[in-house]
Amino acid sequence: MLNIVLFGPPGAGKGTQSEKLIERYHLAHISTGDLFRRHLGEGTALGKKARSYMDTGLLVPDELVISMVDDKLQEEQDTKGIIFDGFPRTIAQAEALDVLLNNKKIPITGMVALDVPDEELIQRLLERGKTSGRTDDQDMDKISTRLEVYRSETLPVANYYQQQSKFVTINGVGSIDTIFKKITDEISKLQQT
Ligand code: AMP
Repeated sequence: MLNIVLFGPPGAGKGTQSEKLIERYHLAHISTGDLFRRHLGEGTALGKKARSYMDTGLLVPDELVISMVDDKLQEEQDTKGIIFDGFPRTIAQAEALDVLLNNKKIPITGMVALDVPDEELIQRLLERGKTSGRTDDQDMDKISTRLEVYRSETLPVANYYQQQSKFVTINGVGSIDTIFKKITDEISKLQQT
């Protein structure tokens, strides 16, 4: 199986590249942001709990995220592999994911990080906010909070995979196709290790 964690700050291009990776490798997609937005839209109990965190740009508490991913993994039993997009975002989530995957005997192949400078991220998020309908993309305070949360809570997750020699980083600035090529080259190398 090919199980890739696509990593990077908000606006790095994880969603765009995930779509291309799914098509290329026929993988399932677990985007916790998309899953939460669906819960929000459907007005579920989980959506109601997640709303205040998402509205301010803070992380939804780990236990809610982990149980949602656990449910989604049950649905994806027969897949060729999974792209994790926007998850894990804390060390606790990374540890919980290892437990969930170990139980199923399916390891993470690797983490691919997209490196994009803050100024570019802010431009991309504000641009996306014009059409995405996402309120967290339209407000500079919320964007700043999301970038701070990324640095303080999410960035340590890179070390977690680095320690297992499963971490690669690529330049996330450039054309979508150029970045995609770099990602697939790195995935080929990760598959050989
Ligand atoms: P995203 O679409 O990945 O930018 O996520 C949008 C929002 O959903 C984030 O700002 C968080 O409030 C919440 N969220 C998404 N994924 C996670 C996660 N793995 N852990 C905690 N909160 C998350």
